[in-house]
Amino acid sequence: MRVFAAIACACLGLPAAAAALASDINWDRVDLPSERAAIERFQAFDQRLQDVGWKLVRGNAAFCDRVIPSIGLQLQDLASYGAPEVARAALGMEGDFAVQTAARGSPAGLSGEFPGNREVTRLARMDPNQWEAGERLYWQRLTKAHDHVDAMLAEHGGIEVTFANGESVKVGSVDVCATRFELMGEGSRAVADGNRVVIGIDFPGFSYPEEVFAGVVAHELAHNLLGHSAWLDRNGRGRRNVRKTEREADRLMPWIMANAGYDPVFAQRFMEQWGPRHDGGLLRNRSHDGWDERAEFIAEEIPTIHALIESEGAADWRTHFRREIDPQKGL
Ligand SMILES: [Zn+2]
Repeated sequence: MRVFAAIACACLGLPAAAAALASDINWDRVDLPSERAAIERFQAFDQRLQDVGWKLVRGNAAFCDRVIPSIGLQLQDLASYGAPEVARAALGMEGDFAVQTAARGSPAGLSGEFPGNREVTRLARMDPNQWEAGERLYWQRLTKAHDHVDAMLAEHGGIEVTFANGESVKVGSVDVCATRFELMGEGSRAVADGNRVVIGIDFPGFSYPEEVFAGVVAHELAHNLLGHSAWLDRNGRGRRNVRKTEREADRLMPWIMANAGYDPVFAQRFMEQWGPRHDGGLLRNRSHDGWDERAEFIAEEIPTIHALIESEGAADWRTHFRREIDPQKGL
């Protein structure tokens, strides 16, 4: 629930698929079904994150500073695994690129053409499998592929994706707030860096119902939508400043959840469920309010949100949300 100036790439913590070099792999000892199960578990958690993330960035596109076209497709690149050969064998793949997730309700998801692990051989005219990659744990190529997709969508409003069986599908994009969601293969932290929301696979909220889990994704996204990382870079990460940004992120949670179609009460519910057990220790310092105060601040926003939805059809936080900080400060 914190903002970091810079975080290491989330792709490093990918599941199983050993950390051994190709030459070290003793295939007799590799249990492919359990490798595959580990990858599929990771993908199932990622799907939950992407489904919720999509609803939030799509539902709030009208109010964000930075909006980009998207089709809701997330790829995987076996080069980013600790042992790409093991992952390839476990998934029965020939190349390196395949579908990771297509967010529910997104253009990619609605097309029905992007089931998990379907091999991808072309993104528009480029075959990303042909791009140079390091031997293992090489996440840069996947970032490049996602950047390429974004560039094609910005230029053409859609993209043609070709699969290993030669079939192609053209998908048109829609506007979303510019944030990528990434699942980290280890750890229980949730962080936002301005461009990404990164959540560890052990974050306790994954076991909550979707609309409650959406609370943490909304909180982290709120940091990005409100420009907190850059603001803290300019104005310092002292406790007072951090506390103000945390309070803003909490208070914006129900707004962005409401625009995504979730009942804003679930923002409060998240804090009440997560807070008592997890908001102790490190977080119980003066940079964050106590979880009970945080739940109250969230609750206080809800009548305004309901009134706005009643009168305007959406909770326009860009116009109506009361800031705790001066967003221009330090510019
Ligand atoms: Zn936070």
